[in-house]
Amino acid sequence: MVFALLGLFVGSFLNVCIDRLPRRQSIINPPSHCPACNRKLGILDLVPIFSYLWLRGRCRYCRARIPIRLPIVEGVTGFLFAFLYWKSGLGIELGILLAYSSLLTVIFVIDLENQLILDKITYPAMLLALAFSFFRPELRSFSFFWPGLGVESSLIGGVFGLALMALPFILYRRGMGMGDVKLAALVGLMTGFPLVILAVLLAWISGGLVAGILLAFKIKGTKDPIPSGTFLAVSAMVTLLWGEAIWQWYL
Ligand SMILES: [Zn+2]
Repeated sequence: MVFALLGLFVGSFLNVCIDRLPRRQSIINPPSHCPACNRKLGILDLVPIFSYLWLRGRCRYCRARIPIRLPIVEGVTGFLFAFLYWKSGLGIELGILLAYSSLLTVIFVIDLENQLILDKITYPAMLLALAFSFFRPELRSFSFFWPGLGVESSLIGGVFGLALMALPFILYRRGMGMGDVKLAALVGLMTGFPLVILAVLLAWISGGLVAGILLAFKIKGTKDPIPSGTFLAVSAMVTLLWGEAIWQWYL
C-alpha cells in the first residue's frame, strides 16, 4: 500500500520528465502549470489520478483537456511499485528494481510519443546500471544471473546488447536508429550476460508481432516507424523479473 502510494507520486514526477525532457526544459523549474493557459497548478490539481477524475480530465481554469497519459502513467507506476515490493521484498534488489522501472517507464513513453530515445537519459542510466552491478544482494533463488551479476557480466551484457542491436542496423540500414542501439547497450548493462540475449529477442519477437497485427488491421502502413525502444523497455523489465525462469525453461 505504501509502495503503491509512493508509486503514484513518483509516476506524477515521471510525467513531468516525459513532458519536459524531450523539449529541453528543466524538470524542476517552472513548477507544474497547465500547458494551455499557463496557470500554476495548485496542490488539488496535482493529486495523482484523483485530480484527473474529479476534474473530469479538464483543466480547472481553461477547461483544456488533460492528456489521459498522465493518470495512466501514475496508475501504472503505482501498480508497478506495489508489485515489485510484493515480488522482491525490502532490500537493495527492490531499490534497484524501482529505479530501473521508473527509468524504463520514461524511456517507453517518450519513445512511444516522440519516436525518440534521449542520450541525456541513456548515458546517465548506463553509469547507474554499472554502479548497481557492484552490489551483490543475497541471491535467493537467483544463481549466476541478475541481480548480483557482477561487473564483468554487466559489461559483457552491455557489449552484447550493443552488438545485437547494431547488427540489423549495419546489415539493412533500416528499422532502428542509434538511440535503439545505445538503449540495447543500457539494457545489457542492467540484465548482464546472457540474459541480454533474451531481452533483445523478446523485443524483436514482440515488436514483430505488434507490427504484423497493426499491418494486418491496416492501422499502420509498412512505412510507418515502429518505435522499437518501447518494446526493448518492456522486454528489459520482463527479463529483469522473469528472465532466469524463462531462460531455464528454455534450456
Ligand atoms: Zn488550463
